[in-house]
Amino acid sequence: MSSINFDRLSQWIDIPPNARKLLERSERQIILNLNIRSAAGDLVMGDMYVVYHNTARGPAKGGIRISPTVTLEETCDLAERMVWKTSLVKIPFGGGKSGICIDTSKLSLLERNEMIREYVHLLESDLLHGVYIPAPDLGSRPSDMATIYGQTHILTSVTGKPTRVGGLPGRREATGRGVAHSVKLALERILKRGLTGATAAVQGFGNVGSWTAKFLRDMGAKIIATSDVTGGWYSPKGLDVDDLMRQTDASGTITAGDVADRISNRELLALKADVLVPAAVENVLTQETASKVNARMIVEGANGPTTNEADEVLERAGVPAIPDILANSGGVIASYIEWRNAKSGSITDRHEVFEAIEGVITRTFDEIETLAKERKISYRRAAECVAVEEVIGAMQDRGWI
Ligand code: NAD
Repeated sequence: MSSINFDRLSQWIDIPPNARKLLERSERQIILNLNIRSAAGDLVMGDMYVVYHNTARGPAKGGIRISPTVTLEETCDLAERMVWKTSLVKIPFGGGKSGICIDTSKLSLLERNEMIREYVHLLESDLLHGVYIPAPDLGSRPSDMATIYGQTHILTSVTGKPTRVGGLPGRREATGRGVAHSVKLALERILKRGLTGATAAVQGFGNVGSWTAKFLRDMGAKIIATSDVTGGWYSPKGLDVDDLMRQTDASGTITAGDVADRISNRELLALKADVLVPAAVENVLTQETASKVNARMIVEGANGPTTNEADEVLERAGVPAIPDILANSGGVIASYIEWRNAKSGSITDRHEVFEAIEGVITRTFDEIETLAKERKISYRRAAECVAVEEVIGAMQDRGWI
């Protein structure tokens, strides 16, 4: 099922029937067995999914999710979100995603590298021809992208590489930087206030959550709560984000020490705060948890943290939400810069990367804010209108419809 309700969206934009048929289905769904030989000689078998949802605007772009629970359905959903994200921020990519269903906690480093090499082997033609350009997602990391590059020998074949292997300075922090900037814009435009002293609850303390929290705190906000899968911390005075990052690096979890009052993930979602940033996993804001939200607005760091039912609850309650396809687009904007540099030989420093991310997000925020006001619709609907119209236009340009 599409993340977008096309019936509802046709109230505001023209969606020709043939365009809708194409947008509702993935262009390509590949299911393969990914088998590797363990050091002990056993065969470790996993499913591998690769989905290209739509490539009218450019090659399929999207990360590799590695998890023992990843499904084809989840991979399709994430591939589709990449289409809307790249079209909303107008970078010349389509949307795709990979899922590798393997429990990597049981693999040695050598076995893990073997898994990535096998992934490249199975997808070789598309990677060599730039049909699909992967990047890290949950469960995969820059060193895996370096392994992919090591197999293709083409710097443009993958983004999110370590900086010493053709990667981009600032790529690691890019998504969090963009989320923090979205929070800043949303506070200024919606709540008519600055970041100084604003309170934020950030769910998830992985790549996106921890950098979002760090940038927000550095810009003057108070992080009153944050969490990971094991639980979280609450402090009305504000948490020491640097210390939490050090602890997480050292122990792998946020809850190892004793830094403030303990809080559950459900309690975090219901906290009174200026902004709630779900930055962990999808579907955490359901009809039930959304009805308990006490934050004044939501900025989505994770992909798809709000179910459609929860979105309606929040809209009725007058809680504005800045959608994932805008708020967490910093990562794909940085990926585009990395890819472009690999093509042109340009070098971009961290400061320039952050400036570029903030520029694109501000411009897109302005565009959807204007549309939302004109049509009296939410930021999410306005973002969907812009993104879908852009893809329909590209399909028309290419003679697909
Ligand atoms: P990550 O693996 O680095 O971190 C995930 C965090 O969420 C961890 O702290 C983990 O403990 C926590 N978590 C996991 N399950 C949870 C649960 N059920 N309840 C609460 N917390 C839970 O992943 P990430 O890269 O930070 O990605 C987070 C989200 O952002 C995902 O939806 C991902 O698709 C999306 N995203 C990531 C990027 C990126 O550049 N990393 C870009 C765009 C979108």
